[in-house]
Amino acid sequence: MLKGKTAVITGGVRGIGKAIAKAFCRNGANVILCYRSNDAEAEKTAAELSGFGPQVKLVKGDVADPETAKRVAGLIKDEFDKKVDILVNNAGITNDKLMMRMSDEDFTKVIDANLNGTFYMMKELSALMVKKKNGVIINMASVSGLKGNPAQVNYSASKAGIVGMTLSAAKELGRRGIRVNAIAPGFIETDMTAVLTDEQKETAAKNITLGRLGQPEDIANAALFLASDMGAYITGQVISVDGGIIM
Ligand code: NAP
Repeated sequence: MLKGKTAVITGGVRGIGKAIAKAFCRNGANVILCYRSNDAEAEKTAAELSGFGPQVKLVKGDVADPETAKRVAGLIKDEFDKKVDILVNNAGITNDKLMMRMSDEDFTKVIDANLNGTFYMMKELSALMVKKKNGVIINMASVSGLKGNPAQVNYSASKAGIVGMTLSAAKELGRRGIRVNAIAPGFIETDMTAVLTDEQKETAAKNITLGRLGQPEDIANAALFLASDMGAYITGQVISVDGGIIM
């Protein structure tokens, strides 16, 4: 489905990002995976994905630093003939605290990584996509950005911001051959949610229409659909993949 395409996936070495990278590689795409600090996991993921055939490149850097997006664009110019077909802005963090206890830094750090990081990557890589009049951007939002969650004003604000940014970018870039969509995952079992107790997970599952927590592959399937020609007429959409939390 993605043979010969090149995809950048931020936060692509663990959790949801890794599942997306796997789905893309299995379907023929070269992948450039950005990560912040976990070298061991990055090397392990790269070795695992290399078995599928296409190229796998790692870029270590903080997406909250605009230089990281510039370095990724530089790699695409030097090693991929200035061509990037797919960008998945998946890197994200939480720092949950009740608002009363949330410091300015707690708030800003999450906005910097989730929202600003998405902006820097979209800006740099859409400039390359515009030149080829072709591209797909998928931004990782969250149900938290659509319905809110206690102790997550920082995270909800970043994810709601991603939704707005996705819609504006879709309107700006549509006539230049670029589709921009967001996925809003529900409760997905990754390191991000591993901090919760079994009891908290059981309670969460009770509020999910399909009665189970999501797996990273549930999100990867939606990303593959949007990234491929199966999603060729879809832009400016926020697709909830949440087992029916929001309906
Ligand atoms: P995860 O398991 O914690 O993995 C996060 C990935 O993002 C890691 O590879 C991490 O790099 C990278 N990352 C984090 N901050 C970064 C930064 N500043 N610069 C570069 N890379 C950074 O998370 P996940 O659960 O797979 O979540 C992926 C995305 O889905 C996030 O945007 C999250 O908000 C969203 N989401 C998740 C859920 C859920 O239930 N899990 C629900 C809704 C939305 P290192 O490996 O180097 O640490």
